[in-house]
Amino acid sequence: MRQKKGSLFVISAPSGAGKTTLCQKLREVIPDIKFSVSYTTRKPRPGEIDGIHYTFVDEDEFRAMIADGEFVEWAQVHGNFYGTSKKRIEDMINEGFDVVLDIDVQGGRQIREHFPDSVLIFVLPPSMDELRKRLTGRMSDAEDVIKKRLKNAIDEIKEYKNYDYVIINDVFDDALEEIVAIIIAERVRTSKIDKNWVKENFIKEEE
Ligand code: 5GP
Repeated sequence: MRQKKGSLFVISAPSGAGKTTLCQKLREVIPDIKFSVSYTTRKPRPGEIDGIHYTFVDEDEFRAMIADGEFVEWAQVHGNFYGTSKKRIEDMINEGFDVVLDIDVQGGRQIREHFPDSVLIFVLPPSMDELRKRLTGRMSDAEDVIKKRLKNAIDEIKEYKNYDYVIINDVFDDALEEIVAIIIAERVRTSKIDKNWVKENFIKEEE
């Protein structure tokens, strides 16, 4: 195997930027990439499956996990708690898998602190008008939720400067291609190569 350890990618965006659809498509385009399943206190939306989209827990369980140090990062987003399991992501990275975290900007900051080599990608909608339109068209959320998310969107967008890459999700296929390019480029970094593999395969012959 060329790569010993996987890379960690964070994808953040204000809600309505199209991040969820981008991440879904990313699974199809790069099938060996792993997505971390977060824990949340939010109630499941129609169609969401426990253990696949999220692990759904109540607030007491979530607080117990914080106390036990089980999260590498956690945050309160739109009134609900969300957290990433330290063990889940470390296991996948150590097995050599690239891991994507679909998390908010608070989480992105914490991941950068714990994993300085992580790659942070920020997705922007093409305009504020478009963002408003996309949020209003989403039927699963109530009016007050939409208003709250729009207000939060501006604060989230201010955080783009802490990210390594900014993708503008105007033409979906172009945005997807840009994310794929980032992931592929990261895989072929010199620092990612297993030095023993190079030695065994190429240098040993010379010695
Ligand atoms: P939703 O409730 O729409 O699925 O997610 C709301 C927001 O929470 C999204 O921006 C999503 O990326 C973020 N989120 C999901 N899981 C986590 C997590 O484990 N940690 C953090 N910090 N944010 C998360």
